[in-house]
Amino acid sequence: MNTFCHACGMPLEKKEDFAGGNEQSDFCLHCADESGSVHSCEEIFEGGVQFFMSATGADRSLAERVTRKNMKGLPHWQGKECSVLEGVVATDEEFVEAFAKL
Ligand SMILES: [Zn+2]
Repeated sequence: MNTFCHACGMPLEKKEDFAGGNEQSDFCLHCADESGSVHSCEEIFEGGVQFFMSATGADRSLAERVTRKNMKGLPHWQGKECSVLEGVVATDEEFVEAFAKL
C-alpha cells in the first residue's frame, strides 16, 4: 500500500495510521475522527505547524509557511475556502529543506 492522508500528507502505511483504523479512508488518525469526519482546516493547520516546529526546529513563521504550502498541494483542500491557507507560503527551497529534516 502506498498512500497518504489527503488532508495533511502523512504516509498511511499501516492500519493504525488510518482514521478509525479503516484502510478505505483517505485520512490519517490525526485528521479525522473514528467515524471518518475530517477536522477543520484551522485544527489541521495548527497541528501541522506544531509538528514542523517540533520535528524540524523551525520557528513558528517558517513552520506556518511550510504547513501552508504542504496543505495547499493536497487533494482535500482543493477548491475549499480556508483563511489560514491564505498567506505567505514557503519557497521550494524552504519546503525541501524542511522535509529533508523529517
Ligand atoms: Zn492527516
